Amino acid sequence: MQKTSIMRQGETGRGIGYVHVYTGNGKGKTTAALGLALRASGAGKRVLVAQFLKGRASSEHTALKQLKNIAVQQFGGASFIVKKPSAVDCRCARKGLKTIERAIGSGTYDLVILDEAAVAVYFGLFSEVRLLEIIKNRPAYVEIVVTGRKASKRLIGAADLVTEMKEVKHYFHAGVGSRKGIED
Ligand code: ATP
Ligand code: MG
Repeated sequence: MQKTSIMRQGETGRGIGYVHVYTGNGKGKTTAALGLALRASGAGKRVLVAQFLKGRASSEHTALKQLKNIAVQQFGGASFIVKKPSAVDCRCARKGLKTIERAIGSGTYDLVILDEAAVAVYFGLFSEVRLLEIIKNRPAYVEIVVTGRKASKRLIGAADLVTEMKEVKHYFHAGVGSRKGIED
């Protein structure tokens, strides 16, 4: 690990980008990633927020649009996946994976957030192997954040930093759904 990091830094001279995974059932995965995007943008880093499964703009888009260093792209179908993804969901996600592969390799971004990519793998929307390849083959300076419940063992194994959001309590169980500006 240490040796790999030193080699990668040496290759690029631009510092090392690490791989984060934010998973678990508690609230805070996507918002932690967005918080990092905000911080990175403030430091002049160029950020891509790629959202899988989500096909509808939520409130963060309005805020992110005002920040010039942050681009947002969505690769979700129109509706929420409950049990089985549709052909449209799969097509959108796979197209998204190709797009982010190009974006990561383009040299345009320092931080790339793959929001809900762990869930996309869980639902079989795209291949875990492909995602891991893209992460492994990225330019050394690109920092990657993967969010989503049910992150796989291999994804966790490939990460340098893994945070599990533990649900201690959630008002969801008391019937409080998603609220604009808080979850949506
Ligand atoms: P945030 O975007 O607030 O940081 P998150 O990324 O950690 O949250 P997700 O796993 O993406 O959370 O969950 C998205 C939505 O699922 C939430 O808006 C919430 O309304 C709903 N949810 C929360 N807890 C549960 C649960 N136990 N089972 C099913 N759905 C839940
Ligand atoms: Mg989320």
